[in-house]
Amino acid sequence: MRKDLPVDEFSGPRRRAVLAALGASVAAAIPACAAPETLTAKIPDAQSSVAAPTSADPAPSATPSPTPTPTKRIRPTFVPDYHLPPVIDGLAPVITKIETQHPVVFLTIDDGNVKTPEMVRLMAEYDYPASLFLTRNSVVDNPTFFREFQKQGSLIENHTVTHNISMVREWGYQSQLNDMAGMQDFALQHYGRLPALFRPPGGAYSNVMRQAVAAAGMKAIINWEAKANAGKMDYQVGNSLRPGDIVLMHFRPEFAADLAAFREAQLAAGLEVVLLEDFLGVA
Ligand SMILES: [Zn+2]
Repeated sequence: MRKDLPVDEFSGPRRRAVLAALGASVAAAIPACAAPETLTAKIPDAQSSVAAPTSADPAPSATPSPTPTPTKRIRPTFVPDYHLPPVIDGLAPVITKIETQHPVVFLTIDDGNVKTPEMVRLMAEYDYPASLFLTRNSVVDNPTFFREFQKQGSLIENHTVTHNISMVREWGYQSQLNDMAGMQDFALQHYGRLPALFRPPGGAYSNVMRQAVAAAGMKAIINWEAKANAGKMDYQVGNSLRPGDIVLMHFRPEFAADLAAFREAQLAAGLEVVLLEDFLGVA
């Protein structure tokens, strides 16, 4: 479905911003074959040049820098080698890691209580697409804030209306479904897309929840085996990021420290940050 991914991702304001940011310095830095089209103001030509696979792709720096620099390279894409399990007997699948041979990692960011311009700036500077599992009650005061991440290539997913971390124990099927459906409606209204993925508040799930997720129109429950928390990485397995890891973060005051910890681990592991929805075919 998304084989034209680089073109899509480089459409609209983001592509223009990237192209504007490229400027003369990059034209000097990349092979001459790509320079003329990069410099031209004729966007479609520049786009097809930019979307071409990797020969003109400058290698990432071998030494992680504590100071982020503006992105001046094309984000690699990968043909997914993972197939999302289907809903079986009304139960949405539960995924904590993607089995893949590709050097990819998936960033997910939850809740939405804290909203600062720094968050938008850092995500743009690192050029990270992410799955944003938003809670309606955490973002309803300023839903527009998260459109900035949408413009960068991130997607909004479902983390309920109320964030009741005891919903699995306290609520039956219908109450769970209502709390999911309310966020589906909110996301469609404010972000123009129905979420395809669900993250349980606190991570706890049950078969009743899996049924509600499927009934709400979503494809999977997405949990994690690694997280960036309190300025460091926590791993449920091993002590480094693995290909296919799904990483949990939050929109918290320590966002910059968490993202720096993630970036250090991501670069150390030689992984590319890829949008989970693209890899699952549910973007
Ligand atoms: Zn949460």
